Order: sequence, then structure tokens, then C-alpha cells
Amino acid sequence: METILIQTPSKKYPVHIGSGVIEGLSSYLIKSFPSITNVMIITDENVADLYLNKLVNTLATIDTVSYVVPSGEKAKTFDVYYQCLTFALQQKLDRKSLVLAFGGGAVGDLAGFVAGTFMRGIPFIQVPTTILAHDSAVGGKVAINHPLGKNMIGVFYQPEAVYYDLNFLKSLPLREKRSGFAEVIKHGLIQDVSFYEWLLEHIHSLDDLTEEQLSYCLARGITIKGAIVSQDEKESGIRAFLNLGHTLGHAIEAEAGYGEISHGEAVIIGMVFALQISSDKLGFTFNHEKLVSWLNQLGYDTEVPSHLSVERLLEKMKQDKKSVGQTVQFVLLKEIGQPVMMGIDDDYIVNKLKGFLK
Ligand code: NAD
Ligand code: ZN
Repeated sequence: METILIQTPSKKYPVHIGSGVIEGLSSYLIKSFPSITNVMIITDENVADLYLNKLVNTLATIDTVSYVVPSGEKAKTFDVYYQCLTFALQQKLDRKSLVLAFGGGAVGDLAGFVAGTFMRGIPFIQVPTTILAHDSAVGGKVAINHPLGKNMIGVFYQPEAVYYDLNFLKSLPLREKRSGFAEVIKHGLIQDVSFYEWLLEHIHSLDDLTEEQLSYCLARGITIKGAIVSQDEKESGIRAFLNLGHTLGHAIEAEAGYGEISHGEAVIIGMVFALQISSDKLGFTFNHEKLVSWLNQLGYDTEVPSHLSVERLLEKMKQDKKSVGQTVQFVLLKEIGQPVMMGIDDDYIVNKLKGFLK
């Protein structure tokens, strides 16, 4: 069991990681929010089936109401957001109530946005249940989607605390583990060469991660993310480095159709692509073969699916929030742990992508 303190300009909060940490939530709430009226748990259908009873029992003496939303991106719509607010009003939540996000990144993003906007903001707690959520539950970016763009409607709103109980992660399907673990690898690449080397040496399968390995990986990833958001909470500078692999990754996700390729699977392809650009443009040296064969061993593809159009991928990348004018911006590495942002011209991207199709 480990506790990491995240300190941003707007809030300082603990992230508790380990099996059984959820047992401490009820006493924390009673102590930190003595006049709490009730807690609105927002969770999705899968997590509710598996664990909602357990969570409600854990919070025994605290008055809870639960709202179950569809799983995945279907949770992050304006309709679902509005239904959550309606439910909150019907259940007479007030400024002494609290929102508890119980699920993966989709639930966390939705519930955080509900908490951040209901009555101009009531406290919220993150109880993440996916590996990916080590990234999304920390840092305070909360949002829902608009049909014209993902995460387009949101606020920066930090949680009061994060309770990351590894017992909830045991039911995670392999594909979800793979998606989330991509962000762990990303955190190593952008900030911590020794962690990255540890990963290559110790992790050979995502199916039989030990509890110690999982806990270590989540803690390292969260520490790295916490250090970045503490310096740049609102993404005016270095927080953008967390987008390594995401320029191409987001384009692949959108072009392939969300769900066809998971977020993390697309980000892995985007990271390998960004590392190759880094070699060409910045003289970054890395053992390409070793990285690719390790990623393949973990079950990741490292090339762009050949049915995707290079031109359409480029168009999608130009629509990226980070693009400056018409120039696509990539996070590149000078070395492992030393990211930089760089504009890359279209012809180069198209040629490089053509050699990167599976
Ligand atoms: P998710 O919340 O959709 O969860 C993935 C799937 O796993 C869902 O079907 C869910 O029902 C299921 N699931 C969750 N926990 C489970 C468990 N313990 N056992 C079995 N099944 C379980 O997705 P995610 O991958 O956790 O997160 C993706 C979302 O996070 C995206 O919407 C993305 O935009 C967002 N995100 C946000 C940030 C941020 O900083 N706010 C960062 C990265 C990603
Ligand atoms: Zn991501």
C-alpha cells in the first residue's frame, strides 16, 4: 500500500494505491467531510454489476445514491451528463454532497464534470477501476464529448482524493489492460529512463502481472504525471508532453472507428512513430528492434493498419487541438526522459506514414 501526494496550484490530494485501500474511504469521508449529506456514486453498467454492492457496503454509515451509466464513451455524452444532473437534483444533493467516480476513465471524466459544474462545483473522489485510469484519475482534466470532437466540453477540476484499490482491477479484460498499460509505458518514455528500462526488463506479459508489479507501475506512472501537472496544471506548457504518441494515436482511433482499436493500442503505434521521427529529426538513438519486439510480445501492434488512408490520417492530425495553424505538432524525444514539441511538415509525415503501414 502506497500513498502519493499530488500538489497542484489549486489542490493537494492523496492517491492511495493497493489492495484493500477502499476500506479506508468511509473513515476518511467522515473525518474530512463531517457535515456531509450524501454521496452520489456514478459508475458504469459493468463496474456496477461487479462491484457496486461492495462499494456501497464499504460506505455503510454514509448515505449513498447510485447512478449507473452506459460503459465506455457512451457515458461521455451531453444527454448522460444532463441525466446525472437531473438525478442529483431529484435526490436533493446539495453543496455538502459529494460525487464519487467509480470506474474507468470514461466514468471519471463524466463524474468529474458533473461534480465540477453541479451547483458550481461540489467535492469529488476518484475510485478508478482500470489501468488507464492511473492517467485519467490524476490531473483534474474532466470532460464529455461533443459529436464534433472528443473531450471538447470540460473543466479543470481536481478530486479530493483517489482510492486506487487493486482488487477492483482483477476482472479487467486483457485488452483493457493493454490499453491502459500503454500510458504506463508513455510515462516512462517521457520522464524516467530507469523506469522505462525496468519495464523492458521485468514486464513480459500483461496477462500475469503480479500485484507488486502492477502497484509499482501505477505508482510510478502517477508520480510522473503528478510531477508534470504540479508544474503545469492547465496545460500551458510541459503538460502537453503527456501527449507523446497521441497525435497519430488519436487520428488512428478516429479513422479506425472508436472501439476498433483501443486508445492505448493506437497510442503505442503513435509512440513508435514519434520515436522514429525523433531519430530522423533529433538524432534520438534507441534500440528500435528491441522496443518493437517487446511491444509485440505484450500484444501490441506497432504499425498503422493498412486499410487506413494516410491522407485522411494527416487531415485528422491537422484537426488536433495542438496543431499550430496548419502544422502538425508532435511530442518527440531528444533522449528518453527529454521530450520536446516540434512542428513537422506534411510531405515528411505522409512519406513516413507510407513506410509505416502494416
Ligand atoms: P472506460 O472507462 O470506458 O473503461 C473501459 C471498459 O472497461 C469499459 O467497458 C468498462 O465498463 C470496463 N471496466 C472498467 N473497470 C473494469 C473492471 N475493473 N473490470 C472489468 N471491466 C471494467 O475506459 P478507460 O480505458 O478506463 O478510459 C478511457 C477514457 O479515459 C476515455 O474517455 C479518455 O478520453 C479518458 N482519459 C482521460 C484522461 C484525463 O486526463 N482526464 C486521460 C486519459 C484518458
Ligand atoms: Zn492517452
